Amino acid sequence: MLHSRKADDSPTPAVYFLMHEMSIVQSLIEIIKEEMAKNAAVKLRSARLQIGQMSAIVPDALDFCFSVITEGTELEGAELIMDMVPLKGVCRKCASEFDIVEYAFTCPTCGGSEIETLSGHELALIEIEVE
Ligand SMILES: [Zn+2]
Repeated sequence: MLHSRKADDSPTPAVYFLMHEMSIVQSLIEIIKEEMAKNAAVKLRSARLQIGQMSAIVPDALDFCFSVITEGTELEGAELIMDMVPLKGVCRKCASEFDIVEYAFTCPTCGGSEIETLSGHELALIEIEVE
């Protein structure tokens, strides 16, 4: 007999969110390990990341996942330095560029509402410090 899944079997939002961070950290670690191998590094001191305001990444959760996954590895104890990238937009009507503050998607120059985002969605590894 098949086990039937009820709707309330789905992960709670908090768990789901942590899973999101976990998978991000796992791919991040892959990249860091590759970089370390290229540099014949034995220990990671720190890694600097750029995190877009709109990337739906919670820095604390990322930090937590990182320390859990790297425990007992050559990455253990490394510091994650996270630079938040503000949300920037460009107006499709008058082409002016501006910072989007508090998710107000309105052009401060012409008042237009057709805004394209330029930055704020990224997650990038900028540099690593190794031993
Ligand atoms: Zn405009």
